[in-house]
Amino acid sequence: MSTDEETPEDLEPVPCTVCRGTGTLISNLGGSPFEVPCAWCDGTGTFLPDHDAQAQRRAAAEAAGETPAGPTAPVAETD
Ligand SMILES: [Zn+2]
Repeated sequence: MSTDEETPEDLEPVPCTVCRGTGTLISNLGGSPFEVPCAWCDGTGTFLPDHDAQAQRRAAAEAAGETPAGPTAPVAETD
């Protein structure tokens, strides 16, 4: 029995469900909405099965946490 209906394992692009394939999300951080690249699909608009948005966010958070907010002013010792 031979079948010509072999379904090729073509990886059809699956639209990212988070940004609905737009590649951008609307962030309301700061009060006014602005577009930011979707972290779940890396701004491609295509669902990335192996993409770990949480890891990226954690890395970003860690980087932000480790980065000093600015030059720390030396404490003036009052004598
Ligand atoms: Zn997306």
